[in-house]
Amino acid sequence: MSADCLFCKIAAREIPATLVHETDRVVAFRDISPQAPVHVVVIPKEHHADLSALTAADPALAGELLAAVAHVARAEDLEHGFRTVFNTGADGGQTVFHVHAHLLGGRGLAWPPG
Ligand code: AMP
Ligand code: ZN
Repeated sequence: MSADCLFCKIAAREIPATLVHETDRVVAFRDISPQAPVHVVVIPKEHHADLSALTAADPALAGELLAAVAHVARAEDLEHGFRTVFNTGADGGQTVFHVHAHLLGGRGLAWPPG
């Protein structure tokens, strides 16, 4: 656990969140500021700053993270499709530096995003 990391604290149940899925190494919870009818954040419980750090340290965990995204998409009935986003670094719009996938769905999503 990384001190003062919001998502480490959510994974450790020190900060409340609405959990929708959990495995031994991954947890998924609803985004506090949803950008679509379904907006779930999927994280590894272990702290890695971003996608690059995660894949360098533990590519199998990156695979488990993606499997959890697909699991939640099925559970949330997103059979018409969904979007998965990894904001990475300042230019990527990342604000919480604990790697996470955004799972967005439940409406048609424009591409490119507005
Ligand atoms: P990013 O900008 O890609 O780093 O995404 C961080 C996401 O975390 C944003 O979509 C926030 O709305 C979300 N977020 C911040 N605090 C919380 C929280 N306490 N519970 C759930 N989601 C949060
Ligand atoms: Zn963390």
